[in-house]
Order: sequence, then structure tokens, then C-alpha cells
Amino acid sequence: MNLRWRRTKIIATIGPASDSVKNITALIKSGVNVFRLNMSHGDHDYHKKIFSRIRSCSNKTGTYGAILMDLCGPKIRVGKFEEGSIQLKKNDSVVVRCGSGIGRDGIIISQYQQLYKDVKKGERILLDDGNLECRVVSVNGKDVHCKVVYGGELKNNKGLNLPDTMISATSFTAKDKMDVKLAMELGADFVALSFVRTARDIKGLIKYMARVDKVIPVIAKIEKPEAVVNIDEIIKSSYGIMIARGDLGIELPAEEVPLIQKVVTDKARANNRPVIVATQMMESMITNARPTRAEVGDVANAAMTSVDAVMLSAETAAGKYPVKAVGMMDCILREIENHQWSSGSFGDDSGGNLDRPSSRRAIAHAANSLAHDLKLQGVLVPTDSGHTAAVLSASRPSSPLLGLSTSMETCQKLSLHWGIIPFLINKEESQNWKLLSQDICNRCKLTRAGNRVLLVSGFNDDELLNEPVMKIINVIN
Ligand code: PGA
Ligand code: MN
Repeated sequence: MNLRWRRTKIIATIGPASDSVKNITALIKSGVNVFRLNMSHGDHDYHKKIFSRIRSCSNKTGTYGAILMDLCGPKIRVGKFEEGSIQLKKNDSVVVRCGSGIGRDGIIISQYQQLYKDVKKGERILLDDGNLECRVVSVNGKDVHCKVVYGGELKNNKGLNLPDTMISATSFTAKDKMDVKLAMELGADFVALSFVRTARDIKGLIKYMARVDKVIPVIAKIEKPEAVVNIDEIIKSSYGIMIARGDLGIELPAEEVPLIQKVVTDKARANNRPVIVATQMMESMITNARPTRAEVGDVANAAMTSVDAVMLSAETAAGKYPVKAVGMMDCILREIENHQWSSGSFGDDSGGNLDRPSSRRAIAHAANSLAHDLKLQGVLVPTDSGHTAAVLSASRPSSPLLGLSTSMETCQKLSLHWGIIPFLINKEESQNWKLLSQDICNRCKLTRAGNRVLLVSGFNDDELLNEPVMKIINVIN
């Protein structure tokens, strides 16, 4: 039996390698569910253009792809160099200078102006995703004198990480404010915030959006040691979580990342929050037509641990094989999910230990068992805000989960969640469950006589008003 619907969702970052109508359409057809626009690159005009292009391609293909705009947060970068790059050699002395100007041999400009105030003697300064390493020897005015530990070529605008330093910059920067305004103006489905340290960072962003306009659901990027420490509070205050392994593996010893990935995945799911695993999943496909076996294993592991979504960055934004990378990911996920489906379980549906009993979770659990034991063809969930469908998704039901909403916005939001197939319905359809189920089953080709589906409804945003209803509906053609 072949699995019709892939349960784990795919996020693709759009960039120069994939931003044409042709490529975006090809990515949709290969299975992309969510598009990521990285605000670290490109100006507002570019993002506006690509945003409406994605929406129009989704429209034309009748899909509900979501758009996630990724805010850079206090990502520190080096400035430009006279020659485009410099060479750093082991034991060389080098100055990291806070100020404007251009770097040259022996001088690196920091785009973060407070760096000289934050760093102390003996701390590490990592450059270019941690490939190069310097150690602070002394601070003299706005010049930070360092010694090179691991050398190499350093190009314009590469990232700079300070894993030993308490950074004084706020997580929500002036640039982020401009970028989030754009996200609100365009109607993005999600914003991600980089280098989150505490729940306060998320709350600050939410407060800002509420003051300006409507709040967009926030994805917290976990890439700082402080975020790992404060994970429970961060999960509670965000819509979803991204395990941003690129920076996380620089800020913390890389060997700690896999366990953090597992623990954070389980915690997010226990709180009905979608969780994304990001970075280097198909890294070698930036230049090669085939992934390494280790990469295949990484994607497979993400499916086996039942994350909501896996993400591609440079592979689709700047790589040679953006469409192939998505296709490959799709194949790996389906292979694992086929196995999970035939063994009757997509993972433990207890979703970790809950702080308190939740009626939503209990209903989700019951729905999952019913669907499984009675071999129901699908679970249909009429959902306004998307919350009910999200809760059901977190229990990882084995039958297909159809999220039915009269709101396009909700359908797009549901694209991120594990296993949910979003469906846009109209108001009249939502009045008659029997007819609605019949129609959806027809549209999904779940129409063999005698088929039964489960309909779950009656949840309210206020848990006290919940009057959950589960109805088994015969869908006879
Ligand atoms: P980035 O975030 O691609 O914006 O740096 C992801 C990561 O750090 O893994
Ligand atoms: Mn990052």
C-alpha cells in the first residue's frame, strides 16, 4: 500500500536558485508545503515580488502553501573587505573593529557595534559558521585584538558567533521591526525570530505586532544555549519551534545538538506546537545531484521522531539542485512513513508528559484510537482558527487528517502541521456535516461504499466552552 499523503511537511527557502515562477511551481509540485523568505538576504522590493509570486503560483496550482518570513534577530556579521576576502593564518594577530569602514588584511569590521563592550579576554570569536576561530587577547577602545586559532579564508558579510559571550543586543532589532512590518503588510503566515534567548523576546515581538496591526504566529528559532535552558517558557509563548541546528551547533558543542533536537521535539509536541528541524539536511546537494547517506539518515530520523517539518536552506535558495533536493526529501520521508503506516503507528501518541490533563488531548487520543481500531478512512476536522486540527495532529493519528476551514489563512497555517491536509470550504458547506463529509471524500477519492470517516468538532478557543463532538459518518456514494 502506498501512502497517498506525506505526513512530514517540507519547508523550502526561496532565493536566487529558486525564485522564478517555473521553479516555484516545480517546488510546489515536488511537495513543498511552506516557503521561507530569509530576511538576512534581499531587500524589501525583492521580498515583495517573491511573496506575491509564491501566492500566485499556489493559487494556480490549487495548493495552500504557507509563507514564513524569517527575521534575522541579532545575527552578527562581519563587514566587507577591500578585496572581497582576507586570509587568516594560525597564530596571526587580527583586530575585530566596531565601526564603519572596510576590512583588510589584519582588520575585520564587525557590523555589531557593541561587540567591544560585550567580549572579554579569552572568549572565542567564531567566523563563517564556525569554520574559523579567534580568541580575544585584549580590548582597546573599539578594537578587539585577537589571535587566530583556526585560519582560512574569510569573505564579505560572513556570520560571526560569540558562544562564550553574554550579548547585550536585544533579540528583536531595529531591522526586525522594519521586516516584521513588511510581513504584516504582505500577510505572511508565520514569522520566525532568530537567536531567541527568553520568552520575553517572543512576547516583545508579539506585543509589537499587536500595537502595529494583527499578530502573525511566531516561530522561535532555538540556536542559543540560553534558549535551550529557557525552552519550556519559550514553547509556551510561541506558535511553533525551529531547531536551528546551524547556529545551535556553533553556539554549543555540535555533539549536543542531536539530543536537544529530540528533547525539544517531544516537548513541543506535548504542548501541541509544531516543530521544524532545520539546516544542513541535504547540504551536499548544494553542489551534488545526490545526498550523502548520512544526510538521508538525518531526514529519515526526523520522520521517525515525528517532527512536523523538515527545512531546506541553501539547498533550495542557492544550490544547483533545488527541485531535486525537495524530491529526494519527499522520497525519504515517504519511505519511512510507509513503514510507520503499515506498522500502525506514527509514533507514540502520548506526546510526552503533559503538565496538566487536557480535554483536547484526551479527545485527540480517543479520535486516534477510534480511527485506528475501526480503520476509518479519515478524520475530518472543521476548524476555524486551526487549533483543533493542530491538537489532533500532535497525537499523530494514522488515518489522514483533513483540516476543513472557511478561512484561506487557516488552511495556509495548517500546511505546516504534521499530517494535516488543508481544505478550503465555504460557509454553506460547513452547515451540513453529512454532505460536507461526502463531498470531501469525493474530492479526496475516499469514496468506496461503506467507508466511514470520523468527524471531530466542538472545540472553542476557551477550553471551558468546549463541547467536543465525535461522529462516525458513513460515506456512501
Ligand atoms: P539561519 O537559521 O539559516 O537563519 O541561520 C537556521 C540555523 O541557524 O540553523
Ligand atoms: Mn541561524
